[in-house]
Amino acid sequence: MKWKGHTILGLIMGLPFISSPEQIFLVVAGALYPDLDHEIKSDIVNRGILISLGLVLISLLVYILEPSYFDVTFLLLSTGVLILYLIPHLASHRGITHTFICMFVVSLILGFIAYKLSVFSPVVAGIMALTMVSSENILGKVIPICTLLWIVLYLLLSQGIHPLINLPHVYHYILPVAVGYFSHILGDCLTPAGCNALYPLNYKLHRWEAIVLIGMWIFLLVAYLQIKI
Ligand SMILES: [Zn+2]
Repeated sequence: MKWKGHTILGLIMGLPFISSPEQIFLVVAGALYPDLDHEIKSDIVNRGILISLGLVLISLLVYILEPSYFDVTFLLLSTGVLILYLIPHLASHRGITHTFICMFVVSLILGFIAYKLSVFSPVVAGIMALTMVSSENILGKVIPICTLLWIVLYLLLSQGIHPLINLPHVYHYILPVAVGYFSHILGDCLTPAGCNALYPLNYKLHRWEAIVLIGMWIFLLVAYLQIKI
C-alpha cells in the first residue's frame, strides 16, 4: 500500500479516537512511520541518525564537562529520536517495522517525544512528529490535508461534540500514533504480500485476517458507541 492509502486508512481509523485536533498529525505520523524502512526513505533515516546521534553525544559531553547544564530530558528525547531512526535503518522492508511489537515501542517513543514538545505547542509537537517521518514530497501533501482536518475538528470539538476517548498526559499523544500505526499494518496485510505482524511468531497476516481485524475494530467501536449513548 502507498502513502496515500495509508494516510486515508489512518485517518478513517484514527478519527474516532481524536479528542484534540492536533492529534490528527500524530495519527498520520503513526500511519507513515513503518515505511521508513523503504530504501527511498534512507535519506531521511540517515539524516535523522546523524542529527540525533550528534545531540546524544553533545548531551553526554555536557554531562562530563559541565554537569550543571546537563538535562536528562534532552538526553532521553535525543536517544528516543535516535532509536526511532535506527529501527528502520536496521530493518528490511516490511520487516520489524511492520510488527505489533514495533508498533508498541514506536508509539511509546514518538508519543513521549510529542508529549514533551507539546510544552511549546501541541500543534507544533504534532507537526514535528509528522515531519520526522515524512519525505519533503509527502509532507507537502499531508500537511495541508491534516491542517484542513485540524480546522474541521477544532470547530466540531469547540461546538461541544464530546470525544469518544480522552486520555490524559502522555497517553494523549501515544494513542493517536498507535492507532495510525495499527492502520498501516492492517493496510499492508490487505496486500498480497501480507505482513509478519505477529513477530516473533512466524505467521504472516494476510487479507482475510486483516478484514477480520478491521471488522472487530468496527464492532468494538459500534459497541462502545452504544454504551456511551
Ligand atoms: Zn508498509
